[in-house]
Amino acid sequence: MGPLSGRRAHLTQACTVPRPIEALIHPEALAHNLARARAAAPDAQLWAVVKANAYGHGIERAFPGLRSADGFALLDLAEAERLRALDWRGPILLLEGVFDPRDLELCSRLNLWHVVHCTEQIDWLAAHKTQQPHRVFLKMNSGMSRLGFTPQAFRSAWVRLNALPQVDEITLVTHFSDADGPRGIAHQVATFEAASADLPGERSLSNSAAILRHGVRSDWVRAGILSYGSAPDFPEHDIRHWNLQPAMTLRSRLIATQQLQPGDTVGYGSRYTATAPQRIGIVACGYADGYPRHAGPDTPVLVDGVRTGTVGRVSMDMLAVDLTPVPAAGVGSEVTLWGNGPHGSLLAIDDVAHAAGTIGYELMCAVAPRVPVK
Ligand SMILES: *Cc1c(COP(=O)(O)O)cnc(C)c1O
Repeated sequence: MGPLSGRRAHLTQACTVPRPIEALIHPEALAHNLARARAAAPDAQLWAVVKANAYGHGIERAFPGLRSADGFALLDLAEAERLRALDWRGPILLLEGVFDPRDLELCSRLNLWHVVHCTEQIDWLAAHKTQQPHRVFLKMNSGMSRLGFTPQAFRSAWVRLNALPQVDEITLVTHFSDADGPRGIAHQVATFEAASADLPGERSLSNSAAILRHGVRSDWVRAGILSYGSAPDFPEHDIRHWNLQPAMTLRSRLIATQQLQPGDTVGYGSRYTATAPQRIGIVACGYADGYPRHAGPDTPVLVDGVRTGTVGRVSMDMLAVDLTPVPAAGVGSEVTLWGNGPHGSLLAIDDVAHAAGTIGYELMCAVAPRVPVK
């Protein structure tokens, strides 16, 4: 879209009231949640993980709430550029390292620290011309089998990296597969420690679940989901348990109501049939906004701050909610899909995710570009 058409779109918007759906980002909640990570890992330096456009919150929107972090971790080089454009001069870590040898030039230019997880990335560094040696995070696959050198190959990778003039300090890093669940992290910590015991350098181990649930020593911890107000180990624990606050509210309004009679059905596939007279509301929010189509029947939602549930299938632009607990609701009533509602009400994103068979991470990342963010 050229600048002209952009301006024209702007003009059109100026005389149209937008569809009522919007996402609100809460900087003070981000700051509160990050402080919870600090309190749980008081001796560690703290990465705020802002990959995937700050888990869907928007790098620029999230930045003011997260700026007390010691650094920002992400994996998209364009997002790193956006952080530097915000005048963030502190550490930025590329969690997956570079994807192409040419990316190393941007690392040098923007002073990006980067993970090294495979032999090819060492080859690229060895061939890279730079004035300034790079700070690297050497990754061990201690059991997740995703990225990283095996414990057996780790030491020789370190030796090779350490001999490169392109390399400054080397931090040792690994990632946990089960910090949120019953298997835990002990087996991976043991593997990591055994294979790195005699190597110098700082360590970076914990994600949100490990920060909150396991007191493992780590010089750098990596707080992602907890900062955004979702419990990494829901439903075992919820955000109240961990004292976290929603960093995003997705809200909309009722655009219609319907009075159902027994036998009336709601939505595509007639998935819901009224068994008694019942009033429902139609909400301007659907799967094209990022609301999960697989949300089960009776997925929680707040209408005027009162908890009720969805009825029938979610469609592209609309969903239906039971108004039985909120008889005063009508067209224009505020609907909270997740986050903070009116009168101090709250609906954790985890409750909605659970009802849709997914996790808070996926919902917050999936909020669609058509939803205005404020
Ligand atoms: C995404 C990510 C994190 C953050 O995980 P959360 O569960 O969101 O805290 C930490 N480390 C790595 C390597 C990641 O990719």
